[in-house]
Amino acid sequence: MPQSEITNEKAGSKQYIYSFSGGSSEGDASMKNLLGGKGANLAEMANIGLPVPPGFTISTEVCTYYYENQKNYPKNLFEQGIPDALRKIEETLGKKFGDPENPLLVSVRSGARASMPGMMDTILNLGLNAQTVDGLAKKSGNPRFAWDCYRRFVQMYGDVVLDLKPTDKKQIDPFEKILEAKKHELGIELDTEFTVEDLQSIVADYKTAILEKTGKTFPEDPHEQLIGAIGAVFNSWNNERAIVYRKLNHIPGYWGTACNVQAMVFGNMGLDCGTGVAFTRDAATGDNIFYGEFLMNAQGEDVVAGTRTPLKIEQLKAENPGIYDQLEEIRSILEHHYHDMMDIEFTIENNILFMLQCRVGKRTGMAAVKIAVDMFNEKLIDEKEALLRIEPEQLNQLLRPVFDMKEKQAAIQEGRLLATGLNAGPGAATGKIYFNAVDAYEAGKRGEAVILVRIETSPEDIKGMDASEGILTERGGMTSHAALVARQMGKVCVAGCGALSIDYQRGELRVQGNDIVLHEGDYISIDGSTGEVIAGKVATKNSEIIEVLVDKSLKPEDAPTWPIYQQLMEWADKYRKLNIRTNADQPDQAEIAITFGAEGIGLCRTEHMFFGGERIDAMREMILADDVDGRKIALEKLLPYQRDDFYGLFKAMGSRPVTIRLLDPPLHEFLPHTDDEIRALSIKIGRSFEEIKERIGDLHEFNPMLGLRGCRLGILHPEITVMQVRAIIEAACKLKKEGLEVVPEIMVPLVSTVKELEITSEVIHKTARSVIAEQGTGVKYLVGTMIEVPRAAITSDQIATAADFFSYGTNDLTQMGLGMSRDDSGQFLPIYQQHEIFARNPFESIDKDGVGRLMSISAKEGRAVKPELKLGICGEHGGDPSTVEFCHQLGLNYVSCSPYRVPIARLAAARAALKG
Ligand code: ADP
Ligand code: MG
Ligand code: MG
Repeated sequence: MPQSEITNEKAGSKQYIYSFSGGSSEGDASMKNLLGGKGANLAEMANIGLPVPPGFTISTEVCTYYYENQKNYPKNLFEQGIPDALRKIEETLGKKFGDPENPLLVSVRSGARASMPGMMDTILNLGLNAQTVDGLAKKSGNPRFAWDCYRRFVQMYGDVVLDLKPTDKKQIDPFEKILEAKKHELGIELDTEFTVEDLQSIVADYKTAILEKTGKTFPEDPHEQLIGAIGAVFNSWNNERAIVYRKLNHIPGYWGTACNVQAMVFGNMGLDCGTGVAFTRDAATGDNIFYGEFLMNAQGEDVVAGTRTPLKIEQLKAENPGIYDQLEEIRSILEHHYHDMMDIEFTIENNILFMLQCRVGKRTGMAAVKIAVDMFNEKLIDEKEALLRIEPEQLNQLLRPVFDMKEKQAAIQEGRLLATGLNAGPGAATGKIYFNAVDAYEAGKRGEAVILVRIETSPEDIKGMDASEGILTERGGMTSHAALVARQMGKVCVAGCGALSIDYQRGELRVQGNDIVLHEGDYISIDGSTGEVIAGKVATKNSEIIEVLVDKSLKPEDAPTWPIYQQLMEWADKYRKLNIRTNADQPDQAEIAITFGAEGIGLCRTEHMFFGGERIDAMREMILADDVDGRKIALEKLLPYQRDDFYGLFKAMGSRPVTIRLLDPPLHEFLPHTDDEIRALSIKIGRSFEEIKERIGDLHEFNPMLGLRGCRLGILHPEITVMQVRAIIEAACKLKKEGLEVVPEIMVPLVSTVKELEITSEVIHKTARSVIAEQGTGVKYLVGTMIEVPRAAITSDQIATAADFFSYGTNDLTQMGLGMSRDDSGQFLPIYQQHEIFARNPFESIDKDGVGRLMSISAKEGRAVKPELKLGICGEHGGDPSTVEFCHQLGLNYVSCSPYRVPIARLAAARAALKG
């Protein structure tokens, strides 16, 4: 951990506390690691002259210390540090903490480096007790207000510090129960209707409840209250919600939270008081409008709690134009200061405005892009900064189809939400359920919108998947076959939806804890951006960008989001160093990828070309043949298909580079499984059922991932390589004759020693030479290898001698490097994630220390032998922004990813170049 980043030594001893106050804070916005985002920005706002109630921040180092020392604090923190800092607030405001005449009240607020909205705890109105509440009542001349504060404080303290808030959402908070009972008794609806006496009796009931439930009396001593609240804030770093949120957002546990103690300002003193939250722009659309909500005579969370309906910020303009104008001014000051869209919290006390928080506002992908481009046009940021502002994943929202929000909400309200699975392939899809790929394919041909619903998918399902709008599976993770292929195809996919139970025999889909049974042909809707599975139809629409690029049903000038997208991509291409290729096997996939900006194909999986129709029969015949001659006969049949496939693909790609991988998977993947299928095949290829069955038995492998596959296939059966190379070179010659020059890159899979590559290369060269001689046209081609076996990675100096290029096959390199099967990792990876064994799922984002190191050794040693060696990555990781950044750092020539991720990779590559 980068300790030095967050260490601050002062006069020999560490400074743990940083005060903030008008114009002279000890911290500033750059100190987020130490002060947390909230503390750093409170200091910054105070420094630039915005009205911030004074306070101090206890640094994240105290939190770290607390956890490393059995929940003890650094020496003198409570004896000296905190009292000194409190005194500063007291002097500024002329009030005293615990003073029965004129008490200072404070809030105690959590705040980590990265914002974790609502995940941790905050306590307001701290410092109140039986004496100070009277002081506050007298001083403010408003006893109702004082008792309202006290009531809130005892409740918050009880919930948060004394742990009385039930973790189970179904149980009611004991304090809410008392409050509701009182309202019921009085026949009122709103908190604001309570009288002083009502509030006093509620507080008394609260205290009784605390005594009953904890066996202790409510702490009346403000200092004891403060110690308790600070402990609660630090403890809340490790509450369940916070831990889950950190996991989802890749926030490490060692960061810790800071704790802010700040003088209270009161929005609940009357009608010239209030509280609100706002965004300096619309966080959903990115439009440049002030967007917020407020409530008069309210405190803290009232606005978001939903007990009273807040008002739109425009209404403040009418109610209190002075404050509104001041807010507008602050909005502009903040945007010009931070050069970003900010999210703010404010409170109005007796017509005086106070700022309580500001942070960079969370926004949708759409808004992120719009704001970045707008702010460039407003000269707030330059184009580099604009690129750095947008998380590449956010672009997804401009590309994926979307549900009509109103319809989706209505469907959920009607109780049609069945379950939630993994959001594996973003976008929205609605269609009829089909439980197998053949039926899905047929239905697709009939023009039906299809959702393919499977327990899991396998390569045979590809055609059916291709014919479907979306894919829903019961099992499998984010990198399962279904998820992987869906993303490559740009299909919507919800994977691993464990609540489903699919019965192929009956053609039924049931859902745990629900009576609904869906049958083949029934409508279902899936949201691959959220994982939601909804019964029935929900209307979807294409994103504008897709309508322009893919459907061509919309003219660029009619799509408001188009210029923004276009501008962004232009900037990305200007700064990126990496080329972006795509993984594609079909001309139509290739064409789409080109419209997304793909500059070549990094991986064409030839095996995908063997499925479907007569091809699979010839393939099976080849596999089942007893000898070379038998195989050659079958391969003859496959040759024209392959040649046409390559011809189509090369043509679609124009002169862009295309990397073709020779046959890779274990042969059993092509064979029939059921007796019925075997019988059908027996008739087609004229061999007996028993014979075929026995042959399939012979081909069985204990560990197919490490069995007869990859280059081993071609070494055992060179005729397969001959056929594939012939098809590739013949297609290239044909195009050359038609005037299109292509340079195929022939890639040998699963190489682990240079010898394997040499033997295979010899077959490739010999075949290519003879085709070229036959055709009488010279074509150029390259021969390279995948680096996907650790041995290959660490002997890259040898392998480079026989290769024109390397392509990192990081799926297998991860499996073999980690000794971890991707398809079986679902059982243990979630627990691994809990233990933070890997920062990210290693099948989604490169494990930099291990697999990344193999890549880096390989790249360095390979280039040392052959400086012009072309390097790329073709694993699923190629579309992951942080992997793209890593590949940039390694100096690769290109990354290759699924077509729909190409724009994301372009942006990620530009950001990597800019960060470097
Ligand atoms: P969160 O991080 O969950 O938003 P906060 O620490 O921001 O929690 O506090 C919750 C609410 O309490 C916010 O609405 C905030 O404006 C309000 N609040 C916090 N401190 C004060 C204060 N000193 N005076 C008035 N309101 C406060
Ligand atoms: Mg807040
Ligand atoms: Mg592989």
